[in-house]
Amino acid sequence: MDGKANNAPAIGIDLGTTYSCVAVWKHERIEIIPNDQDRTTPSSVAFADAERLIGDGAKNQATMNPANTIFDAKRLIGRRFSDSKVQDDMKLWPFRVIQGPVHTPKIVVTYKGEEKEFLAEEISSMILGKMKETAEAYLGKVVKDAVITVPAYFNDSQRQATKDAGAIAGLNVMRIINEPTAAAIAYGLDNKSDINGKINVLVFDLGGGTFDVSILTIAKGDTIEVKAVCGDTHLGGEDFDNRMVDYCAREFRRRSNKDLTGNKRALGRLRFACEKAKRILSCSTQTSIELDGLHEAIDFSMKFSRAKFEELNMSFFSKCIEIVEECLREAKMEKSCVNKVILVGGSTRIPKVQCMLEELFGRKELCKSLNPDEAVAYGAAVMAAKLSGELFSVVIPRNTPIPTKQSKYFFTSEDNQTWVDVNVYQGERTRSTDNHLLGTFMISEIPPAPKGVIKFMDTFEIDENGILTVTSEIILTGKTEKLTITNKNGRLSKKQIEKMVKDAEKYKQEDQEYKKKADAFNALEDCIYNMKNKIKSMKKSRKLRKMEDAIVDTANWIKHNQAASVDEVQRMKEDLETICK
Ligand code: AMP
Repeated sequence: MDGKANNAPAIGIDLGTTYSCVAVWKHERIEIIPNDQDRTTPSSVAFADAERLIGDGAKNQATMNPANTIFDAKRLIGRRFSDSKVQDDMKLWPFRVIQGPVHTPKIVVTYKGEEKEFLAEEISSMILGKMKETAEAYLGKVVKDAVITVPAYFNDSQRQATKDAGAIAGLNVMRIINEPTAAAIAYGLDNKSDINGKINVLVFDLGGGTFDVSILTIAKGDTIEVKAVCGDTHLGGEDFDNRMVDYCAREFRRRSNKDLTGNKRALGRLRFACEKAKRILSCSTQTSIELDGLHEAIDFSMKFSRAKFEELNMSFFSKCIEIVEECLREAKMEKSCVNKVILVGGSTRIPKVQCMLEELFGRKELCKSLNPDEAVAYGAAVMAAKLSGELFSVVIPRNTPIPTKQSKYFFTSEDNQTWVDVNVYQGERTRSTDNHLLGTFMISEIPPAPKGVIKFMDTFEIDENGILTVTSEIILTGKTEKLTITNKNGRLSKKQIEKMVKDAEKYKQEDQEYKKKADAFNALEDCIYNMKNKIKSMKKSRKLRKMEDAIVDTANWIKHNQAASVDEVQRMKEDLETICK
């Protein structure tokens, strides 16, 4: 698994607070890469006596080694020790955090008998390294390039620290993208726009410990603007579990007159059973919790209904909806202007949460076809494939009526990139190489800048003859390059055929009119011919002269009145016949 030639495709990583997920573009679709147990990996690192454990291994021994099992590194990364959030969170963690140099927080653990200090970046890099290894084992190749997601509210320092964590893990971080943006990309919404050229997307992300709402406006040409971000950094599935645990503990006391809340092992077992029951209640309306010898050798068994679960957690669900409304107010957007609502995070599987969102926005607006734990990694992998040229973007969709003109923005993908190849394809397949390459051109003299900074506008224009002109413009300097592709293969375009069919219909009607008129003139000329024959055998008379004059006049009239209507021609014939009777 070494050597550049054996490099794997770029991967997308959702580096979550409690769980992380990795995905890749493979076999013409996005694949979520499972570790040896699951499709998501706990964002936990444990330092045990003899070894370091990452992911499931770390989480599984957490209760036995709480002081040296690190989780929530995402709550620390890029923050100062004095940050009020850090100070508040520290009170909840079983591990120790101290102030390091330059106000950075440091996590203190005992590893192989020695005290060690780690920055949050280092812990996150261990998790990213685990995701990289998981992908390498799955792909059988060295993974280098990755897109990593962060919350939309992350500031520069938090983004940079996440990027550093990627670099420590040996990854080339192609781009850091916002989690809600990744979710919108996963649902293909970056390529959609309504008649106004934009759509509004609300991303509702309810995970294990955090709740984030983001409102995005996606404009034609791939620009995704974050309009507002709201949330609660301590609201999620774990709170729902806690309410269930409290309820069960009360029930245990009511039945046995014993308090189990001081018994850590009993509480751990109860929490585990409650979380499992909660998941079951997302698809069944009833379940049961059975725990033998829970506390002081007393068994615990009780039925739990979905209705009870909802009643216990209703205040949390209502709070979620209030935060959604707050986010709408911040974005200055009416709920009716939200075109799509994307569900992200495991807790959005809860039927009551979905039901409340449906009530607010309507059923058809909800996007929930992707696994909510995987949507962000999915979108990150789409972005990774796009950035590495594996995927291409559709600018003019099939069946778009021509003439048409559409533009899309693109960005440099490397630092100090001086030129870009623009490859123009025709086709519907997602991978560029599966489509028909129509032409290629280069735009150079790009001003030096870090990757992703220089913006291009590529405009695709098809005229009524199907001739495609692609213009690429460096927005900063205004420099443009152009490519014109004509329909050289001589086949008629769909539009040309449609025009011919329409023409044929129009002509058919005109042909019928013409035939009627031609028939009328023919009948008049036949009449003149017959009259001329008739007068040949007639003796000279006033009647004969009248008839001769009428025949000459009618013949002249025909010569000068070719535009006459059918009726007029028929009237001339009737007059001639009357005179010649
Ligand atoms: P995440 O951080 O997005 O991975 O979300 C994990 C949270 O989702 C945990 O609190 C889980 O208990 C919760 N979760 C996962 N599946 C379900 C489900 N089917 N019903 C309710 N909650 C779930």
